[in-house]
Amino acid sequence: MRLFDLHCDTLYECYTRKQNLLKNTLQLDLMRGMRYRDGWAQAFAVWMPDTLRGKAAYEQCKAILRFAEEQAELYPEQMLLVKTPQDIDCAITSKRCAAILTIEGGSALAGSLETLEEFAGFGVKAITITWNGENELGCGSGSGKAAGLTPFGKKAVRRMGELGILPDVSHLNEQGFWDVLDNIDGPVIASHSLSAAVNPHPRNLTDEQFRALVQRKGIVGLNLCGDHLGKQSFEQLERHLDHYLSLDGERTVAFGCDLDGTDLPPEWEGMAVIERIYDALQRKNYEERLLDRLFFGNCYDFFMAL
Ligand SMILES: [Zn+2]
Repeated sequence: MRLFDLHCDTLYECYTRKQNLLKNTLQLDLMRGMRYRDGWAQAFAVWMPDTLRGKAAYEQCKAILRFAEEQAELYPEQMLLVKTPQDIDCAITSKRCAAILTIEGGSALAGSLETLEEFAGFGVKAITITWNGENELGCGSGSGKAAGLTPFGKKAVRRMGELGILPDVSHLNEQGFWDVLDNIDGPVIASHSLSAAVNPHPRNLTDEQFRALVQRKGIVGLNLCGDHLGKQSFEQLERHLDHYLSLDGERTVAFGCDLDGTDLPPEWEGMAVIERIYDALQRKNYEERLLDRLFFGNCYDFFMAL
């Protein structure tokens, strides 16, 4: 099987725990990813904790982006940092991980638009506007606040569009979500968000939100977080998947498993579980063509068209 996964926190965890991407004790590493050698693209997020703001947030984000570059230099046979869509093909044909850099939390901007240009220079392809809390751009789904994007947040979204950085609405509160869509014409993603109709968690997307992303030709990644799923089981994940598919999501749904960002049952054995989810769905007679689209093709087509 081929895998194009929209979200993991492995880069951040490696940086803070002084481990490496090649082989580590976390849920994902490049060695174990070789099981997806027919094609593996992986977004690596720089997670921004809500305790970090201003210059400290920006500095830490930059340090982790530099760490990603160092890792790519250390392991050139296993990974390629993606700067252009062609890099994705290049990595895949040479059986390497196509590593895509993203930022999880707009606090990394430290309230300045200039930082965005710098992040674009690192090859950052997507930024979630918030994490769970409130920052200079807006309020996260865990902030307890209903306010939409700040004037700076709206400007930042428009600038992201100009720089080719995707606004990622995962973690954002609902008004912020609609404000993002109102401020940009181009594609928007929700890298790791399940369905609120299946489990009404504030991190999950309502049907109206999901339909808006389908219309916008965006991408929505399913994640494996127990709280968001409602119950951490394959059957429950399938309910979220089926619900999204019932909303015409065949070309929109993908995976953003949130490896190293969420606790998994030990028997799921980290990233190996993705292959088992694929097999389980195949046994339930999901067509192989659809599965390849969900696990790889939807994201591939989307990123190649950017
Ligand atoms: Zn997250």
